[in-house]
Amino acid sequence: MPNYNLNTAIAYLKGVGPNRATLLKSELGIHTLGDLINFFPNRYIDRTQFFKINQLQNNTSEVQIIGKITTIKTVQQKRGSRLVATFTDGTGTMELVWFRGAKWIKAALKINTPYVIFGKTNFFSGLFSMPHPEMELLEDYKKSLRSAMQPIYPSTEKLTNKGISNKIVSKIIQNLFEEVQGDFTETLSVLIINELNLISKTAALLNIHFPQNQELLTKAQIRLKFEELFFIQLQLIRKKLVRKSKIKGFNFEKVGDNFNNFYNKKLPFDLTNAQKRVLKEIRKDLGSNAQMNRLLQGDVGSGKTIVALLTMLIALDNGFQAALMAPTEILATQHYNSLVELLDGLNISIKLLTGSTKIKERRIIHDQLENGELNILIGTHALIEDKVKFKNLGIAIIDEQHRFGVAQRSKMWQKNQLPPHVLVMTATPIPRTLAMSVYGDLDISVIDELPPGRKEVKTAHRYDANRLSVFKFLKEEIAKGRQVYVVYPLINESEAMDYKDLMDGYESIAREFPLPNYQISIVHGKMKPADKEYEMQRFIKGETQIMVATTVIEVGVNIPNASVMVIESAERFGLSQLHQLRGRVGRGAEQSYCILMTSFKLSADAKIRLNTMVDTSDGFKIAEVDLKLRGPGNLMGTQQSGVLNLRIADIVKDTQILKKARAIAIDVLTKDPLLKSPENHFIRIAYQEISKKSTIWSNIS
Ligand code: ADP
Ligand code: MG
Repeated sequence: MPNYNLNTAIAYLKGVGPNRATLLKSELGIHTLGDLINFFPNRYIDRTQFFKINQLQNNTSEVQIIGKITTIKTVQQKRGSRLVATFTDGTGTMELVWFRGAKWIKAALKINTPYVIFGKTNFFSGLFSMPHPEMELLEDYKKSLRSAMQPIYPSTEKLTNKGISNKIVSKIIQNLFEEVQGDFTETLSVLIINELNLISKTAALLNIHFPQNQELLTKAQIRLKFEELFFIQLQLIRKKLVRKSKIKGFNFEKVGDNFNNFYNKKLPFDLTNAQKRVLKEIRKDLGSNAQMNRLLQGDVGSGKTIVALLTMLIALDNGFQAALMAPTEILATQHYNSLVELLDGLNISIKLLTGSTKIKERRIIHDQLENGELNILIGTHALIEDKVKFKNLGIAIIDEQHRFGVAQRSKMWQKNQLPPHVLVMTATPIPRTLAMSVYGDLDISVIDELPPGRKEVKTAHRYDANRLSVFKFLKEEIAKGRQVYVVYPLINESEAMDYKDLMDGYESIAREFPLPNYQISIVHGKMKPADKEYEMQRFIKGETQIMVATTVIEVGVNIPNASVMVIESAERFGLSQLHQLRGRVGRGAEQSYCILMTSFKLSADAKIRLNTMVDTSDGFKIAEVDLKLRGPGNLMGTQQSGVLNLRIADIVKDTQILKKARAIAIDVLTKDPLLKSPENHFIRIAYQEISKKSTIWSNIS
């Protein structure tokens, strides 16, 4: 017998061979015995139940029967032939039918020998039949590892067509168990196993493939889910520790004049407690000799910008430059304008760099950046171009980070000899449990408190049929001096239909709100930046009362006097997008409103989304619902993570196990960072194996 280990190619396993090995590789990504053993069933069928033929019902789905074949005949058909066997169990008679492989099946079937058959039944002119039954001699059935809970493995059409049935996969796995004599190396420490009352690795693998009963199956699932999540957390946390110890960061020792003057003389309001707490967390990072790599989560309007500014001032106080990157020109410009205003009179040099910055101005910026005259640079993607070189960049802040790709963010890391400190900000809250996996290697700060005096945005769902009353309401608000957004979906910037909707909408609003009493701005992605900017400015200055727009206004825009947000075809927006849009209003002192317009035709999910919006304004609650509706892979910011390709655990459902796994991973690494103690021997070996294979961790944020 060959000497098997888990890296052995599956072709060498009994029952596989080169052809099946090729198929298993291409269809299921199974290359080695280790891959095969970790190929888990996705459901189980209860095979404790045996049916009698006289109990069969027209609608029974999959049944299992013990009986014997009495006769076999080949029936000629127009194309080929079919094989029909008469099967009886003493209570009645039925037919087993094969449309393919008649010849070799006929040769293999035994007459008058007890079989266990399993499959779906059909009822046809008074007789039950079972096409292509799975069958096994009763004698073998009793001997096999096969258990009451029949595992069903994921499969593909090609595999089924090539005859690699569920039964064959199960049989191959059984062979594997026999070859390795059912013994698998433990991967967890005795301590963890005892503390969590887990079953051993060997017992878990055996019971996931051949569950003895439901209870053991559940235990096997818990053990394997824990293990999967535990090793992910172990990698994330270790990476964080390594980064902290290895990647030296600039040490911002002091808080000096820039910070203090601004804080004491210029800060237009008191910071909220949450803002103060986050600032403390950031200051600790900046003075720790390690590079900061922190995610700041805070709902729309929670006041992240001021935290960003104060952080940049600390960099300036220590002789460094600072950069703030935003995903759109509008947003970058807005940041620039508000920072210029806040920093007025403080002798800090700040500039804006975007795609539409003129060449002449660009040159000046490049020069001033390199000679250190420029302290703060605000901008869009333009800021990460290679041409843009800093004299001494100390901190890079990235707003709405999910709008940037990993590669773009990583460019920021290269803008100085040592990587600058990095603070990424997002207004798209990610549920804590998900953040643990997707951003597990980052430090996370949360602003979970809105500045005082904010009134909750009143949100209502209205049907298109009630448009007139909505218009009436808008007129009343405008009469009070308020401004209104009307937003249209533009899923794909080139979709002609969406533009038509937008323009039709604009025209009907223009009719309803005619000049000279009303002025309307319009902004969409097809306009030239200068025209967009012009229209934006008119609205910001209050020259127009209504802003008709596509989602370009979604991100970050801050116009306190705009207090009504009308979202057209709201059913077409995702929850987080709706939440972002609503965040554009409710920024001033006045009561604000969000009106979700839809037709009567709504899907079940759309109804949940709309109701959630009406019911709550808590970004984290909304993110939880979004996670449940769409699954983790679709949430903003998670797509590139790869952390979500889980074998058995489910990041939405297994949150308790995830929390435990993370807590224990932290505990283990705190006590034994290199996993050197004998107690963690198994963990270390397994960890090394996993790290060799995993390429999924993007260490840059
Ligand atoms: P976001 O977190 O969405 O980026 P902003 O930083 O744009 O939020 O802040 C939203 C508004 O709240 C701004 O007008 C800002 O000046 C104001 N703001 C921020 N912090 C406070 C505070 N502590 N007290 C009062 N207003 C604040
Ligand atoms: Mg913002």
